[in-house]
Amino acid sequence: MTNFDPNCIFCKIVQGEIPAAKVYEDEHVLAFMDISQVTKGHTLVIPKVHQEDIFELDEEVASHLFSVVPKIANSIKKQFKPLGLNIVNNNGEAAGQTVFHYHIHLIPRYGEGDGFG
Ligand code: 5GP
Ligand code: ZN
Repeated sequence: MTNFDPNCIFCKIVQGEIPAAKVYEDEHVLAFMDISQVTKGHTLVIPKVHQEDIFELDEEVASHLFSVVPKIANSIKKQFKPLGLNIVNNNGEAAGQTVFHYHIHLIPRYGEGDGFG
């Protein structure tokens, strides 16, 4: 995959240099469990290519990434049986982004007191 940043933690996960609990993978997209689960089943979906944020994400990459999100959401639903699910995406430090490789959070919700929001 082109556009790989050797200092980027998510690029390292894509390359298999750092382990991750993968839940979905194809040629262009990877989904894996967030290391710090805000709720049970908290998953990150990333493009394999290193693009920092929504402002850098190209249309083709975005289009493919979002096309596989329902499938990933449904596999989370099947496994964890949440009552709902939030999709969150932080862009830029001011918006709370801490890893500068584009990603969306899939956050299963279990009702009041589930620890999120
Ligand atoms: P952000 O704050 O940028 O929207 O989200 C970054 C997310 O990446 C955080 O929820 C954080 O827990 C997760 N994260 C950071 N480093 C790692 C890692 O090495 N492995 C995994 N699986 N998740 C990570
Ligand atoms: Zn990266």
